Amino acid sequence: MQYLSIRKSDWDKMLDQLLLSFSVYATVRNEFGIDYELITQNNIGDIIYNIPKPSTSLKTFFLPVRENVTSGGLLNKKRLILGSPNCDVSGLNILDEIYLDRDFNDIFYRNKRENTLIISSDCLEIQEHCHCTAYNVKPYSEDGADLAVILTGDNILLRVISQKGIDFKNSFLTDLEPAADDLVWEAENAHRKTDTKLMDACKDLPDYKKTGELVSKAETGIWKKYASRCVSCGACTTACPTCSCFLLIDKPDFEKVKQMDACQYPGFERVAGGEDSLFRLPDRFRNRYMCKYVWKTQKFHSIACTGCGRCIEACIGKINKNELFLELSK
Ligand code: SF4
Ligand code: SF4
Ligand code: SF4
Repeated sequence: MQYLSIRKSDWDKMLDQLLLSFSVYATVRNEFGIDYELITQNNIGDIIYNIPKPSTSLKTFFLPVRENVTSGGLLNKKRLILGSPNCDVSGLNILDEIYLDRDFNDIFYRNKRENTLIISSDCLEIQEHCHCTAYNVKPYSEDGADLAVILTGDNILLRVISQKGIDFKNSFLTDLEPAADDLVWEAENAHRKTDTKLMDACKDLPDYKKTGELVSKAETGIWKKYASRCVSCGACTTACPTCSCFLLIDKPDFEKVKQMDACQYPGFERVAGGEDSLFRLPDRFRNRYMCKYVWKTQKFHSIACTGCGRCIEACIGKINKNELFLELSK
């Protein structure tokens, strides 16, 4: 994979130029942590690199919370998203399988995917609940993103990944030089260090397949125990980079609004006759685990949990799914 390098100060000037052609969103530290912000000339210097992870998952750029799907518009300017960790980039795989289905693809999702360039950010630190490597997701992108960025010293290194990334390089990054061998070595050494930290953090966790087996065999008691702290807020699914459920809401004048939904909400499965197979809280709670680790694996090629840890961080009931898995694996 080709690495290009540029001095950080020149990269910031280049981003300034890119604002003419793209709406640029990048990861910035704010009072609540790290999140994406629209980049202008004033905050280019605030962009942070290589620290996981933005509070908002990458999926929100492609599946906004609410979207008018009758009179809503398509993107009128190309977007560049800078700083997504690879757990989120990997989460797009399953969303692509669902929303870019050959027979029934979602034109709004497709429009956003086609008009967005993703420059992912290699993770050089890990957070308390990061567990991507338990599910074979690397902390740096080798596919899925268009380019990947790593800041090392005063140098920005860019790894060109996809054809879209090559086209972008040929159009906008013509001044960048191939990176010197010592910089590439430094980047790859940093990858190894992050891999090692994650392997250590995840050493007791069951892998994705084993987790599915444990979840499908788990008895009612464990769901009741963990669900007793659940308040059905839906934060775990909202924060998740792979959760994809939505409602279509009818509005006056035949307008339709697509709104993201969550299986943790009461009434998620209620049908017109009033039946609701997920009426009981422990059943709804179990549904999320069955969806992510059992049913999705039967239907799709991509995994439905990339180990980002956001569902653990977002839970008001302090429910840690990994503690549940460790209890199941005893
Ligand atoms: S289930 Fe949790 S850890 Fe897995 S991808 Fe979703 S939010 Fe991240
Ligand atoms: S059913 Fe639940 S866990 Fe599965 S995608 Fe929908 S909201 Fe996420
Ligand atoms: S975030 Fe926690 S409390 Fe909220 S629905 Fe999910 S498991 Fe329940």
